[in-house]
Amino acid sequence: MKRIIYIPFDHLHRNFGALKGADPKQDVIAMVESARMTSGRNWHKERLFFLISSARHFAQSLQEEGFTVEYVKAATTIDGLETIKAKYNINGVFCAEPSSHLQLAALKEFDVTLIPNDFFLTPRPLFNEWAGSQKSFLMESFYRAQRIRLGILVEGNKPTGGAWNFDKENRLPPPKKYDGPKYLEHKRDEIDIEVAKELGHTPTTTWATTRKGALAQLKNFIDNHFAEFGPLEDAMTTDNWALHHSLLSPYLNNGLLHASEVIDAAVKAFKTGDVPIESAEGFIRQIIGWREYVNGMYWFLGPDYRNNNQLNATRKLLPLFTDSDKTQMNCIKETVTDINDRAWVHHIPRLMLLSNLALVTGTNPQEFLDWMREVFIDATEWVMVPNVIGMGVHADGGAMMTKPYAAGGAYISRMSNYCKPCVYNPKLRIGEDACPFTTLYWDFLDRHKEAFTKNHRMSQQFFGLNRLSDLPELKMRAEEVLSGLEQGTI
Ligand SMILES: Cc1cc2nc3c(=O)[nH]c(=O)nc-3n(C[C@H](O)[C@H](O)[C@H](O)COP(=O)(O)OP(=O)(O)OC[C@H]3O[C@@H](n4cnc5c(N)ncnc54)[C@H](O)[C@@H]3O)c2cc1C
Ligand code: SF4
Repeated sequence: MKRIIYIPFDHLHRNFGALKGADPKQDVIAMVESARMTSGRNWHKERLFFLISSARHFAQSLQEEGFTVEYVKAATTIDGLETIKAKYNINGVFCAEPSSHLQLAALKEFDVTLIPNDFFLTPRPLFNEWAGSQKSFLMESFYRAQRIRLGILVEGNKPTGGAWNFDKENRLPPPKKYDGPKYLEHKRDEIDIEVAKELGHTPTTTWATTRKGALAQLKNFIDNHFAEFGPLEDAMTTDNWALHHSLLSPYLNNGLLHASEVIDAAVKAFKTGDVPIESAEGFIRQIIGWREYVNGMYWFLGPDYRNNNQLNATRKLLPLFTDSDKTQMNCIKETVTDINDRAWVHHIPRLMLLSNLALVTGTNPQEFLDWMREVFIDATEWVMVPNVIGMGVHADGGAMMTKPYAAGGAYISRMSNYCKPCVYNPKLRIGEDACPFTTLYWDFLDRHKEAFTKNHRMSQQFFGLNRLSDLPELKMRAEEVLSGLEQGTI
C-alpha cells in the first residue's frame, strides 16, 4: 500500500518512528516547514538554523536513499500535509505519535494514523502505569526501576558500584582556571549556508546539523569528556562554557541520535574500566532517568499542566532576560550572553540562575516558559513544560518536586566563579551591595511561608528565616531590588 509518511522535525531517525520499515519505492515522505514554526514567535536564530538545516539534511539523505520526498513550506503543518495529500491522491498519512499535546490534537483531527512513539526508552503506557501506581512522582524511584527494567548498571537487582547514586561525589565547585579539552567544531556545508542566508543569521560551529555530525559529537563526549562528567556536573565557570556536559540534547530531541545509541556508547565505555562509576552513573541517570521521566510526566500530567501558576506569580518577564545590559548581576549577565551566543547553557544555570531568578522574583511562569522555549537550542514542549513549570518555578504546587529550587547567592558563589567580579556581595542580604539572589531568597520564603511552612523538607530554611533579625530592612531592600530589576538597573 502506498503511504504518506509525515516526518516532524523532531523525528529525524531512519530506524525509529514511522520510518522504521519504510519502503523507498512505495512511500512518499512528507516534511513541512511551517510558518508557525519558523516565524510564529521570537525564536533564537541559532535554534531555527539548527532545526531547519537538520531537517533539510535529513530530507536529502532520504532522497539519496531513493524515497520521494516532499519538503514543503506552508502556513501550518496541516496546510502542508493537505497540499501533499492532494498532489499524490493518497489517503493514508502515517506518523509516529508527535511530541506535544497540541500537535497530537491537530494530527488526530486530520485523521493521521499514529504509530507508537519509540523515540524514548519508555513507552508512554508503561510510564503511565508507573506514575498511576505512585503516591508521589519521585524521579529517584522511577530511575531505580528503569535501571532494573533496562538492565543498566545493575548486577541482578543490585546497583553496580554499591549505590544507586553518587551525587555527593558529583558536586565539586569549578577548579581555578579551567581550560579542559577543546570543544568540537562543526563545519558548514551548502545546505547550512542556504538556511543561514534565508534566516539572515551567522551560525556558530557548535551544533551539527547532520547524523554524521551528531555521531561525531557523541564520540567526542565519550572519548574526551565522559570520564570527568560527574564531579563537575554542577559547576559553573566563565573559563569554560560547557565543562564536561555532553551537548547531546539537541540531537536526542530532534532524532539525529536515539537514547539507546547514547546509552550503548556510555555502557561500552564504562566497561573498559576507564570511566569512574560516579561519571558513568551521573550521565546514565540523565538519559534513562531524568529525560525519560520528564517526557513521561509531560504526557501523564496532560495539556492543562502548562497553565499552572499555584504561587500566583504575576510579574512580567524582566528585561534582563532579553537584554543582558539590563542587569549588573554578573551571573545573569554572563548566562544571558552565553544564550545569545549559542542558544545553550547547562542544567545548573537553567535551574539555579534563570529559573531561580524567575521563582524568587515571582515572574509569571507562562511568560518565563515562553521565553525559555524560544531561546534554547534543545527546547521542545515536552521537555520545557515539566522542567520549567514543575522543577524550575514550582508553579504546580509540588506535583513534581517536593520543594522549590530557591537559593541565595551563597550557593551560586560556591558553585561558580561569577561572584568575585560582581558588583554585589553574595554574603549580604541588605544594603546597596547585597546580592539580589540573597535578598530575594529570604523574601521569597517570607512571602510564601504559609504555602511551605508544613513542608518538612524546608524546615531548616524556615528555621533560618525565623532567626533573621533584620527582616523589616530585608523586606524594604527586596522592594528596591524588584523595582530595580523591573527597570533594568539592578
Ligand atoms: C528550567 C530547565 C529547562 C530545561 N529545558 C530543557 C530543554 O528545553 N531541552 C532539554 O533537552 N533539556 C532541558 N533541560 C534539561 C537539561 O538542562 C538539558 O538537557 C541539558 O542542559 C542539555 O545539555 P547536555 O546535552 O550537555 O546535557 P548533559 O548534562 O550532558 O546531560 C545528558 C542528557 O541528559 C538529558 N537530561 C538531563 N537532565 C534532563 C532534564 N531535566 N530533562 C530532560 N532531559 C534531561 C538530556 O537529554 C541531556 O542531553 C532543562 C532543565 C531545566 C532546569
Ligand atoms: S553576587 Fe549575586 S548577583 Fe552577583 S554573581 Fe554572585 S550570585 Fe550573581
